Amino acid sequence: MPSTPIAFAGIGKIAKDEHIPALEASKDWHLAATISRNDGIDGVPGFHDMDAFLRDPGDIRTVSLALPPGPRFDYAIKAMRAGMNVMLEKPPSVTLGAARHLCMEAEANDVSLYFTWHSRMGDACDAARDRLKGKTLKKLKITWCEDVRQTHPDQDWLWEPGNLGVYDPGINAFSILAKILDRPASVSEVTMELPDGRQTPICSDIVFAHPDEPDMTAHLNWRHEGDPVWDMEIETKGDAFSLTGSGSRLIEPDGAKTHEAGSNEYPLLYARMAELVKAGDSDTDLRPMEMVADAFLIGRRTIGDPFDW
Ligand code: NAP
Repeated sequence: MPSTPIAFAGIGKIAKDEHIPALEASKDWHLAATISRNDGIDGVPGFHDMDAFLRDPGDIRTVSLALPPGPRFDYAIKAMRAGMNVMLEKPPSVTLGAARHLCMEAEANDVSLYFTWHSRMGDACDAARDRLKGKTLKKLKITWCEDVRQTHPDQDWLWEPGNLGVYDPGINAFSILAKILDRPASVSEVTMELPDGRQTPICSDIVFAHPDEPDMTAHLNWRHEGDPVWDMEIETKGDAFSLTGSGSRLIEPDGAKTHEAGSNEYPLLYARMAELVKAGDSDTDLRPMEMVADAFLIGRRTIGDPFDW
């Protein structure tokens, strides 16, 4: 089968780290255009912005958008109104209302829309989900800590209103949680520390509410030093394991590891997008975003030390 042309917008950190290598290796897609104000890829036609691309899209019917969520909304709406299938980086939008608007536009324009959640493509997530099916949790402890200077160098937009601060990686944990639990997880108590002069949190502690499962928590920290920690410790009656490396490894209590594959998240996202387009379906799971929105609704704020790069 010949591969399908796709356009890609927003050549920034995650584009270079993940999207472009995944597209270059894809059997389903070939990169047929870029949309970028500042960059391009040798041999690939480049357009400055979405309007310029839509004036001359050739046979391209799908775009992948890896801009930050603020400017991404406008690009997504324009693309869908022009009949394009659209794949979005996480988080899908700035607000829940905007995300629902995107879903309505996809339906109205009869195109496929994919809200991607890359972390739930981690190699051990399916195994964790199967192991938890029908089980009552005794404990679930999420620890999601990174050095923001390492993972998001100089990305000031993350501190602006409408962005998530430490919940930008934290939403990855929530996306895994929503996948591996066969019931809703809702937040009930939240504290968050905002650096003095910044608008979004740098650290946060979360307690989840469930009458039968009282010990579910998450700790998010962007002041962490060293390598990132993206782990979940999970205990049910008669079973215990850890899901580490952002859903990529499952570790037994005796230290035995399974599913220790390299990261294949973005190739899997593009394979899923190919399935959706072929079937004429959308995949727009909003649960991780709802958990974050709830945390922002109920969170008790404190102001901490200023943060600078
Ligand atoms: P980034 O490097 O700061 O920005 C990505 C690109 O978006 C920029 O290089 C720019 O591309 C374009 N852009 C930025 N502001 C724009 C504006 N106002 N209007 C039009 N285009 C704009 O961000 P990133 O780290 O790649 O993150 C992008 C998205 O991926 C975010 O939603 C983030 O949560 C998600 N993500 C990031 C990571 C990570 O490790 N960084 C991991 C997974 C997911 P041009 O110069 O080409 O126009």
